[in-house]
Amino acid sequence: MILVVGGAGYIGSHLVKELVEKEEVVVLDNLSTGHREAVDNRAIFVKGDLGNVDDLLMVFRSYPIKAVMHFAANSLVGESVVDPLKYYENNVASTIMLLKVMMRFKVKNFIFSSTAATYGIPNVDMIDETTPTAPINPYGRSKLMVEQVLADFSKAYGLKYVVLRYFNAAGAHKSAVIGESHDPETHLIPIVLQHLLGQRDKVSVFGSDYETEDGTCIRDYIHVTDLASAHILALEALLSGEKSAEIYNLGNGLGYSVKEVIETCERVTGLKANIEMADRRPGDPARLVASSQKIDDELGWKAERNLEQIIADAWKWHQNQTY
Ligand code: UDP
Repeated sequence: MILVVGGAGYIGSHLVKELVEKEEVVVLDNLSTGHREAVDNRAIFVKGDLGNVDDLLMVFRSYPIKAVMHFAANSLVGESVVDPLKYYENNVASTIMLLKVMMRFKVKNFIFSSTAATYGIPNVDMIDETTPTAPINPYGRSKLMVEQVLADFSKAYGLKYVVLRYFNAAGAHKSAVIGESHDPETHLIPIVLQHLLGQRDKVSVFGSDYETEDGTCIRDYIHVTDLASAHILALEALLSGEKSAEIYNLGNGLGYSVKEVIETCERVTGLKANIEMADRRPGDPARLVASSQKIDDELGWKAERNLEQIIADAWKWHQNQTY
């Protein structure tokens, strides 16, 4: 059985939907930002808190867990700057507690959701896993700290792990029964689509004087279903013993500017957006684009869905959003 912590969240729920086809799954989630409706009903759901050792012990005593996939984290850069305690407590301290309980129950396989924010403001066009990490905010630091803990636990206790550094997760399940639903929503694609549905009066473009071709920030958008398939390959590589301590970037390898994303949303939906140029958002690097060559070479993973597909699937979800 696989324990998916944070399996009611955006990325976790998409992973669970794929994973239940292959494995028995138990989801632990406190529903602080996740949605019970997002959890596939073939998975067992336990409402509980990662920060509560009794909840963890109960899950590990009740189910024969062979691997843990950990998605439960706070992930807003701005919030992490004003409330770093929340990030170090929920993202670092609670993860250490989870690892401690795993060690006690001799569960040695761990897949960890990390982020492009570990790279800070990198000085390269294509970020690969050898690009130095230098996070510029508590969110990125909290993820990097756990990565370092994992490396030490691997050497000392034989923990086996794969760290997956996501670039910009977006899109929705092709069935449109699950998708992205954050409150507040801060991400570009859902904001543009909500605007095109009449739920917001405009889209603010945060900065148009960056050193990029059209002056707006460039990001690497990756379909949430492609992220899910990478997790399944990583899990198989751990369980087969093929991998024991790896870090992989997950992106499309293609950069799109904020303006290009808005234009693609307009093309896919056939609607016109009302755009306003706004100030830069603090902490936004001009360009973040991944090389995912390593996971392609080692596990045979490639992103299969392009920006149009991402936006088309997100659009289906937003038109029919149920939670
Ligand atoms: N962005 C924007 N307007 C918005 C939301 C985001 O211009 O209403 C920009 C943001 O500054 C960044 C890009 O869109 O350059 C992607 O931001 P998002 O929050 O989706 O992801 P991030 O890259 O911060 O993880």
